[in-house]
Amino acid sequence: MEASLTSLYQELILEHYRNPRNKGEVTDHTAEAHVSNPVCGDEITVQLRLDGNQIVEIAFDGQGCSISQASMSMMTVMVKSRERDEAINLADLFTDMMQGVEGASVDESLGDLRALQGVSKFPVRIRCALLAFDALREALGAKRGAGLKADPEADASGGAAHDDASQGETTH
Ligand code: ZN
Repeated sequence: MEASLTSLYQELILEHYRNPRNKGEVTDHTAEAHVSNPVCGDEITVQLRLDGNQIVEIAFDGQGCSISQASMSMMTVMVKSRERDEAINLADLFTDMMQGVEGASVDESLGDLRALQGVSKFPVRIRCALLAFDALREALGAKRGAGLKADPEADASGGAAHDDASQGETTH
């Protein structure tokens, strides 16, 4: 990455950190999720209100490092007023970018979130950046196959208990 672009992105991260968008609570929210990253100390709650399939309000609160706070701020800006499916699609794009999937990092639909791509070089901070969309997915009851902890209660209705993955045991 060009040095000038890197510093531009750093500025953007700091700007969101200092002036977080959509920080606070959503009164009469319809969904909520709490996420944390104990390694870093990030503790964040996301609240949102769905009107049909549209996210009409979203806000976050809590504390954490500049990366987690900035990504929360950017995430809320990007998904507010979007359809649920679009928001989940963004979550997948962002996760791909952070995990270094080729092509994902230049996707313009990520907006300011692209500023966080540099964080993917620092494995201990990736979790900080992904926290925002983890919270969003959890609040929306959406799952992404790999890498995300599944919510066993949300999926209990299916009946087809495949493989019964024991919660809390990961192989890496
Ligand atoms: Zn953090």
